[in-house]
Amino acid sequence: MVVLKPVVINKPYALTSIEKSTRDVTTFRFESKEKTNVHFIPGMFAMLTYKDPETGKSISRAFSIANAPPSDYFEFFIAMINGQLTSKLANAKVNDTYYISAPYGQFQFDINAGTKFLFLAGGTGVAPFFSMLRQAEAMGKKLDCSMIYSVKYPYDIIEKQELDKFSADMELKALVTVTRPAEGDGWTGQTGRVNGEMIKKAVPDFMDRVAYICGPPEFVKALKDDLVAMGMNDREIRAEMWG
Ligand SMILES: Cc1cc2nc3c(=O)[nH]c(=O)nc-3n(C[C@H](O)[C@H](O)[C@H](O)COP(=O)(O)OP(=O)(O)OC[C@H]3O[C@@H](n4cnc5c(N)ncnc54)[C@H](O)[C@@H]3O)c2cc1C
Repeated sequence: MVVLKPVVINKPYALTSIEKSTRDVTTFRFESKEKTNVHFIPGMFAMLTYKDPETGKSISRAFSIANAPPSDYFEFFIAMINGQLTSKLANAKVNDTYYISAPYGQFQFDINAGTKFLFLAGGTGVAPFFSMLRQAEAMGKKLDCSMIYSVKYPYDIIEKQELDKFSADMELKALVTVTRPAEGDGWTGQTGRVNGEMIKKAVPDFMDRVAYICGPPEFVKALKDDLVAMGMNDREIRAEMWG
């Protein structure tokens, strides 16, 4: 792990784009008002702060950076759960000012590691993997990367077209699994929760890969346990969790 000092601390960022990605997830882009280019490692996160103009009270939350480094903007995939910060974001408008400190975190992707990768993503936990894949695409690097991405419903897949493009351009082998399939939802692909059996079947050479897992705590803990139970060394597993 590389220890990076935060490049920006509580710096003003303008909200420049708000795009509804799925029913529950919105993609927000914040651009540095000072045009500061931030170097970070894909996988790291930023602290996003809303300051109430009337009371001066602040609300700060962590979000995984979804775009590639270096950049003078940050893109986040945010589950709109109507909590303290997400309810503010639900009413946010383009050009609003938020404050950002970044980068932070031990969940770090080494694109030059010369290894094969296994990405396991649950829900908005796919965000750091977009940063990793976008970096690889920007650098014209083909990764030997297999990914299993778990969503509740077929319409929960974030940036599906871009994911398909990664598969075509970079030979990413992505398997999406739907945990709550329903009659008439049109889904003909993989269903069920990710587990050791699914990993073994979809990625037979998983033992030769470095695993990155990101998603809700129960997802991350269960998959870490499954990988270790199947013989993977703890040192070959990187994990980030929230929710
Ligand atoms: C390192 C890190 C990276 C993160 N990256 C992302 C990211 O990329 N995208 C993202 O959407 N969130 C991410 N989070 C979660 C984020 O920081 C907030 O916790 C989340 O947005 C809720 O904040 P809130 O103020 O709206 O809700 P709060 O008012 O703080 O919380 C409301 C309640 O909702 C629960 N909750 C939190 N997240 C979820 C969820 N996804 N679904 C259901 N319940 C939830 C909380 O446990 C709490 O009980 C990350 C967290 C960490 C620690």
